[in-house]
Amino acid sequence: MQKIVVLTGAGISAESGIRTFRDSDGLWEEHRIEDVATPQAWHRNPELVLEFYNQRRKQLLSAQPNAAHFALNRLADFFDVHIITQNVDDLHERSGSKNVLHLHGELKKCRSTSDASLIYDVKGWELKMGETCEKGSQLRPHIVWFGEDVPQIIEAARIASTAEIFVVIGTSMKVYPAAGLLDYVPQYSPKYLIDPDAPTISWISNLEIIKEKAGKGLPVLVEKLIKQLH
Ligand code: NAD
Repeated sequence: MQKIVVLTGAGISAESGIRTFRDSDGLWEEHRIEDVATPQAWHRNPELVLEFYNQRRKQLLSAQPNAAHFALNRLADFFDVHIITQNVDDLHERSGSKNVLHLHGELKKCRSTSDASLIYDVKGWELKMGETCEKGSQLRPHIVWFGEDVPQIIEAARIASTAEIFVVIGTSMKVYPAAGLLDYVPQYSPKYLIDPDAPTISWISNLEIIKEKAGKGLPVLVEKLIKQLH
């Protein structure tokens, strides 16, 4: 089976009602990034950070995967599909996709503040101050905040370097190191970028830009790729 690697960003979940990160005002759900998604924010005001992610988690519980998530699931019937996502939602998994690598963590998980290897499922939507790991340390969201290392980037770069086809969906390509993954894809591999507001990327070869929303553009691309097999 041909290997397709897919890099997704917040845009693929936009049609599920989850707002992207760079909405017009530069705020993320009415908050400045520095106030809710950095280690400094956590030290300054952990209650606010927990509440921000509690609200994101609550919203996620009522969201459903959309046509774009399901199209990727269909693609896996015909190709060896590997998804690298910047998203912290679980809509890929809930649409049935396997092989999903979360670069920036997972909203439905939390981890120990003293031992990053202690990772737990959050029960329901709320994580509170006073909830601790088995070593007695406060639990924090299992999210890679701005300014923190991205431990999964090495594995993601390895996967990208083996892509026979590479598809990018709904990412502004502004958040590094994820945005740099395109550089690892072999030059000769066909590449597609689906985003209604796609940036100009002139230095990447074999790149087709599809200026559509994911829910419309991705099912069309998936059918085209499947057809090319016959
Ligand atoms: P971003 O907000 O910087 O960019 C989103 C991109 O999606 C934009 O280029 C926009 O044009 C595009 N877009 C909007 N609607 C679309 C649609 N219907 N179809 C296709 N594309 C669409 O997002 P990013 O590049 O993923 O970086 C944001 C960071 O914030 C990530 O690290 C992520 O962890 C976090 N985040 C995650 C979620 C989520 O898990 N769903 C949501 C918001 C932010």
